[in-house]
Amino acid sequence: MTRRLVVIGAGMASGRMLEHLFEAGFDGHVTLFNAEPRGNYNRLMLSPVLSGEKTYDQIVTHDDAWYAAHGVACRFGEAVTRIDRDRKVVVSKRGETPYDTLVIATGSAPFVIPVPGKDLPGVVTYRDLEDTNAMIAASRPGAKAVVIGGGLLGLEAAAGMAARGAEVTVIHLMGHLMERQLDPAAGYLLQKDLERRGLRIHCKGATKAILGKDRVDAVLLEDGTVYPADIVCMAVGIRPEVRLAVDAHLEVGRGITVDDRMRTSDPAIFALGECVEHDGQLFGLVAPLYDQARVLAATLMGQEAAFRPVQTATKLKVTGVDLFSAGDFADGPGREDIVFRDPGRGVYKRLVIEGNRLIGAVMYGDTADGAWFFGLIKDGTDIAPMRGTLIFGPAYRGGDRGGPSGSRCSLAA
Ligand SMILES: Cc1cc2nc3c(=O)[nH]c(=O)nc-3n(C[C@H](O)[C@H](O)[C@H](O)COP(=O)(O)OP(=O)(O)OC[C@H]3O[C@@H](n4cnc5c(N)ncnc54)[C@H](O)[C@@H]3O)c2cc1C
Repeated sequence: MTRRLVVIGAGMASGRMLEHLFEAGFDGHVTLFNAEPRGNYNRLMLSPVLSGEKTYDQIVTHDDAWYAAHGVACRFGEAVTRIDRDRKVVVSKRGETPYDTLVIATGSAPFVIPVPGKDLPGVVTYRDLEDTNAMIAASRPGAKAVVIGGGLLGLEAAAGMAARGAEVTVIHLMGHLMERQLDPAAGYLLQKDLERRGLRIHCKGATKAILGKDRVDAVLLEDGTVYPADIVCMAVGIRPEVRLAVDAHLEVGRGITVDDRMRTSDPAIFALGECVEHDGQLFGLVAPLYDQARVLAATLMGQEAAFRPVQTATKLKVTGVDLFSAGDFADGPGREDIVFRDPGRGVYKRLVIEGNRLIGAVMYGDTADGAWFFGLIKDGTDIAPMRGTLIFGPAYRGGDRGGPSGSRCSLAA
């Protein structure tokens, strides 16, 4: 039985894991390290904090009273710098802490494109409260902000700074926004929507350098375009934070390799969250991490549990923008599309079907049925009996009544 449990990283995954663990009656002693100078909070909600819709206090998930009630020794603002597996201790600035069982939950590190000027003051990434506060401070009305990266995080950063009055330009390398979640048609609608809200969007834009002497001044693109900037946010992707595991000679691929029970190559060390690789897969959304948290808590309690990744769905947290994407929507042999367009209402829906199963859904402008479609994808439901009306959602099941007037629905193989 684990008496001394040490957890590295107080993020979304470890917070949920500790909840399950204490609910299951864990009576060992927990020491929780966090590089950030604070405990667990809802990282997803940094975007509403940035836009001014929430305060930091409102997104804290575990407060001092919770840690005290469960006897958690909090070591916040104290990064673990080394794991000594032979002696079963972790090393931090205050010395060594012994463990019987160790959990690594170090999340991801934002990727920084290696261009000249990347280290200038005023260049931030988007990962934690410090990044968020830096963007809030810089987003005075009329200030100029450049966001590099038109994915989920970049657009939330852009919308948040715009909501505070900054003039925001988004530079995106690819041909349309959020290309990992959206097809070109939905990406185009999103771009138009954001432009109507005052954002400038530059697709197919490659950053050449960030300009400035003592502080960022502007962003220079490969095509010679220069965008003045008081602040630059790089949101171009994340990498699993695996340095401790690599140094400790644990098995690491792109992430820390774990089995179905979240065990690493060392039986006394477990890992969960964005830092892990399971069956060749990495994770960047919170839903599968919560499953990992449940499995790891059960494992630590000596119960049987196995992690099986499930499909995830994505929504963009920009107020007034309705967007939903789930599953696989790439073209391919044997795949068919059902597409619904209502340009007047700015509504676009695309379902991707393979062998009478729904395998992907993209929706823009009206996402009310997103959860229902997501359920069909996850359950692998045979959609043959409802195919004629499928695109109109659950309300139309049972009778083919056609779509709203002015809309267009097409089936394309
Ligand atoms: C702005 C933003 C919006 C997002 N929106 C969504 C969304 O809408 N939907 C969704 O599903 N996902 C979203 N995500 C992703 C989601 O937040 C992550 O998937 C989730 O936070 C990952 O959890 P984690 O516990 O693995 O890592 P984290 O939550 O990042 O926690 C890891 C913690 O470990 C700490 N740490 C790292 N190294 C050390 C060390 N050596 N010693 C001690 N501590 C260390 C870090 O400081 C950090 O606090 C968003 C992310 C961001 C940044």
